[in-house]
Amino acid sequence: MRRLEARLLLEASKPPSVRSRPNVSAATVHVGRARPRCPGCTLELPRGRRGESCVWCGFVFAAVARRPRRSAAKTARKTR
Ligand SMILES: [Zn+2]
Repeated sequence: MRRLEARLLLEASKPPSVRSRPNVSAATVHVGRARPRCPGCTLELPRGRRGESCVWCGFVFAAVARRPRRSAAKTARKTR
């Protein structure tokens, strides 16, 4: 009798983690496949037409140099 009760408790305490798994992975994939956005108007840029500036607002992408990580690492190393 006691064993049966313990077993029931064990099964009831099991978390339904298997169910939420596929959902999360699917959402992650969707987000990762998102198109690049314009930093100026935050609109999705059309495929194949990525020029030097945004086709919607004319924002120049060169204005936002995207290399703050590399330079930061370099300085950290130099200070040592
Ligand atoms: Zn734009």
